[in-house]
Amino acid sequence: MIKIFPQDRVFILTGAGLSAESGIPTFRGSGGLWRNYRMEEVASPEAWQRDPRLVWEFYSLRRRVARAAKPNPGHFALAELERALGDRLFVVTQNVDDLDEQAGSRRVIHMHGELWKSRCDRCDRAPFDDAEVYEPFREIPRCPCGGQIRPYVCWFGELPYHLDRIQAALDACTIFVAVGTSGVVEPAASFVAHARSHAQSFYVGPEAPVNQDAFTKCFLGNSGELLPKLFFLQ
Ligand code: NAD
Repeated sequence: MIKIFPQDRVFILTGAGLSAESGIPTFRGSGGLWRNYRMEEVASPEAWQRDPRLVWEFYSLRRRVARAAKPNPGHFALAELERALGDRLFVVTQNVDDLDEQAGSRRVIHMHGELWKSRCDRCDRAPFDDAEVYEPFREIPRCPCGGQIRPYVCWFGELPYHLDRIQAALDACTIFVAVGTSGVVEPAASFVAHARSHAQSFYVGPEAPVNQDAFTKCFLGNSGELLPKLFFLQ
């Protein structure tokens, strides 16, 4: 149980594990769905330069998988916490799906981008809504500027989005909670090291993350089962 007092500010970092019970597999240890793809061949600027069709094939698959998914009790628990805490809660997700929003959350920060948006790979036109699946052998769509349309997703070697806001929220938090993230992907894996100098830090997931020593306590179990009964407002 995590007690939240009126003066507390809560920072929650979520990863692929939060959406696992919704049927969107994590990358690590899941085998199965993503097995045919090596991440560096489909999720890096070099991959985009080399073979944009393969990249769109991968993201088209991810869109099809995400389209079939529905939020699970973990997403609903975070949406309820947002309603209770307002701006005393800051949720940042590494997930690109929109299951938090489907569950009713309105303020989640997507540090690795959003699956349902695309952007130009050349100009600074704002990311736009895009639910298309670009299967193999279709033309890569083009921006009016001549650039190619790519997924609005932060790839390996690219800088995540909203880092200034994330840093400010990390500085201000008194409670830090990581959910369903293996503690491998940077910079998110280092957030806990920053927060623990001034905040209690908790982990929620079925197995301890690689950076478990940085946490005050790990709650071992599925987030869909644990999150709905984890937080107690004092
Ligand atoms: P990750 O590094 O966040 O690892 C997944 C973690 O989820 C593991 O530690 C695992 O123990 C945990 N987990 C599995 N089932 C869980 C459950 N029911 N409840 C709570 N935790 C559970 O993620 P990754 O898969 O290694 O992917 C790396 C990058 O790809 C990250 O940015 C990740 O968020 C992203 N990704 C996003 C999605 C999505 O948008 N839904 C899906 C796959 C990967």
